[in-house]
Amino acid sequence: MSLVLRVDGERWRSHLLRTVRTHPGIVPVAKGNGYGLSVGRLARRAQWLADHADDTGAPVDTIAVGTYDEVEDAASRYAGDLLVLTPWRPFGAALDLDPRLASRVVHTVSRPDDLAALRERDPDARFVLEQLTSMLRHGMTRRGLAAAAATLGPGRSDRRGLSGVAMHLPLNTTSHLGEVSRLINDIVASGLPTRTVFVSHLTAAELDRLATTYPDFTIRPRIGTDLWLGDRGALTVTATVLDVHEVERGDTFGYRGRSAPKHGHIVVVSGGTAHGIGLEAPTGDQSLKARAATLARGGLDAVGFVRSPFSIDGKQRLFAEPPHMQASMLFVPSGARVPRIGEDIEVRVRFTATDFDRVVVD
Ligand SMILES: *Cc1c(COP(=O)(O)O)cnc(C)c1O
Repeated sequence: MSLVLRVDGERWRSHLLRTVRTHPGIVPVAKGNGYGLSVGRLARRAQWLADHADDTGAPVDTIAVGTYDEVEDAASRYAGDLLVLTPWRPFGAALDLDPRLASRVVHTVSRPDDLAALRERDPDARFVLEQLTSMLRHGMTRRGLAAAAATLGPGRSDRRGLSGVAMHLPLNTTSHLGEVSRLINDIVASGLPTRTVFVSHLTAAELDRLATTYPDFTIRPRIGTDLWLGDRGALTVTATVLDVHEVERGDTFGYRGRSAPKHGHIVVVSGGTAHGIGLEAPTGDQSLKARAATLARGGLDAVGFVRSPFSIDGKQRLFAEPPHMQASMLFVPSGARVPRIGEDIEVRVRFTATDFDRVVVD
């Protein structure tokens, strides 16, 4: 009756262990909807990875959460440090952090002024300084980093709390190595007393190259997608067929009372807007000429039906109308096998935007 994510537990866990083993210093990222698995489940799994350090040879002493609002959830299931990816600001959720968790939190500081403000509020605060990358999301320029280094002061106790530098890189299109090298040079030039760099989206080959090029640096990859979702074969998403109605051409159905373009079946399946099920962007040629050609062939997209993420017998089906809150109506033209009520069918989803009714880890 539900939209279900089924995880082949053994296969998934061995992928997790392998990823940690091949990425020493990894910081698992558990944020947002937990990549479909929930932040709580990922935090618990990160603790399990930490408990398997003998197996992997990597300690998993830190995980990353996206926001301050996610800290508590993760902290109750994972015993190590929590790096917050959203930069600290002198307002908002950052200021509501439970003081009992403060010693386990590593803040991200992306503006020199915020460093002073954070340390004024909490002299013991632990933090990473974020550098601006070609992403242009958050971070300090070379000059900003130097200013932050100056704010820090020269004494040993002044440096207390500095856990490293962070850089958020775009998804791998071309090599990141040039950009990373420039940013590492900026760290050296700033005089900051740290040699730990938290990075995102570097390939295994790039990480290897950096380790040999900068042997005195510790490069710590923050990894979410490739860790939790890296072995797609371990994950299956299904929806349940809830109802089936035969329709003749001209029969009306749905919220908008539209009429069936030809004989077939309306198949009602679990999964709707509340789960993040949306209309699929048309991928084909949508020019008028192409539409006319489909129309001539009697194609259903030409009558306004839109591709859905649901598949029956490996064939992607069309929405009979836009998805409802928790269910969707598909149109299955005559000739195709009609699934029976209670049957599970496959759904292709974006995990980071999907809220499953149930996640089952075998
Ligand atoms: C989400 C995020 C990551 C992890 O990205 P994935 O593509 O899921 O591995 C790393 N760093 C930052 C700053 C992020 O926001």
